[in-house]
Amino acid sequence: MSRDIYVFIEQRDNKLEKVGIELLGESRRLADDLGQDVVGILLGSDIKEEAKTLFRHGADRVIVVESPVLKEYLTEHYAEAVYQIIKKYEPEIVLFGATSIGRDLAPRLAAQVHTGLTADCTSLEIDPENKNLLMTRPAFGGNLMATIACENFRPQMATVRPGVMSSINVEKEDGEVIVEQMTFPSDSKIRIREILKVENKKKDITEADVLVSGGRGLGGPEGFDNLAELAAELEAEVSSSRAAVDSGWIEKSQQVGQTGKTVRPELYFALGISGAIQHVAGMEESDLIIAVNNSEDAPIFEVADLGVVGDINLVVPKLVELIRKEKALKEELSK
Ligand SMILES: Cc1cc2nc3c(=O)[nH]c(=O)nc-3n(C[C@H](O)[C@H](O)[C@H](O)COP(=O)(O)OP(=O)(O)OC[C@H]3O[C@@H](n4cnc5c(N)ncnc54)[C@H](O)[C@@H]3O)c2cc1C
Repeated sequence: MSRDIYVFIEQRDNKLEKVGIELLGESRRLADDLGQDVVGILLGSDIKEEAKTLFRHGADRVIVVESPVLKEYLTEHYAEAVYQIIKKYEPEIVLFGATSIGRDLAPRLAAQVHTGLTADCTSLEIDPENKNLLMTRPAFGGNLMATIACENFRPQMATVRPGVMSSINVEKEDGEVIVEQMTFPSDSKIRIREILKVENKKKDITEADVLVSGGRGLGGPEGFDNLAELAAELEAEVSSSRAAVDSGWIEKSQQVGQTGKTVRPELYFALGISGAIQHVAGMEESDLIIAVNNSEDAPIFEVADLGVVGDINLVVPKLVELIRKEKALKEELSK
């Protein structure tokens, strides 16, 4: 009989990706509804130590598969390892991050084990009547939300957007670690010859602690120059509304909102952004929201913790100036 919620824990260079930790938190809530356990699936080389981190974030058990061939992600080996785990343990639910790895791995596995997969979910619930997993995701270009259930096949599988679910911290550092021994074919069709890391100074906006976000109120692409200065002072990343992306002022990867990314930084600046519902859906969980808008009726002020009615062309440079002065003063005092 199918049981328990399994979470695929993504790692790169043996560093756990945030989305796996977020999924453990969400799984804990769902598992408590079901009266079942949360199990982390950890694949890699020399990765077993990280099991502790998973217990701390809500896992009851961790299944570890270690092999030198699992050091870097390769579809073939990773799919084989997770397939063996699904076949052996028959999970009720298996969750993946909707990252490039999760989007590659999950559909292949769903086909292999002959079940359904709901991609890019933004919310998960347990149906109180039949205990099925209700998987919700934007559909038709974000114009409506579709809730999908997989009634007839197990496991129920979903990929979930990074940044949407909340991680949890539990006072626990240990639990059951199950080490699965697996061998992988040596005649793999794919061989990694060289790994070239792209020098990318930009952090993914879902990972940033501080975001300086600009909208149509910037008036043009040059408006982002002021924002970049503010971001540099705050060690923040620059993000945007869809209007700025559609106008070609900034890349789509920086878009916050329903059809962009969901973010929850410690501090979110909304500068020249009206606060349309589709934008707010992607940033309302930020810890502190500061909005600057020249219209006091802008809906962004309804979600902002601090609002400034004013022209961003005046407020942003002033803010940069004040931060610089403050920093200079601190430096002076520390001498
Ligand atoms: C299906 C669907 C999905 C969508 N998905 C997204 C999404 O993921 N993300 C997203 O952001 N939007 C999304 N949208 C679009 C959304 O509805 C809004 O059109 C968009 O968010 C507006 O962007 P904006 O706030 O930058 O522009 P506007 O709504 O034009 O607002 C500009 C704001 O700037 C202010 N302003 C102007 N000049 C200044 C100045 N000098 N100083 C200070 N303030 C100034 C104005 O008062 C105004 O409030 C989606 C829409 C649909 C239909």
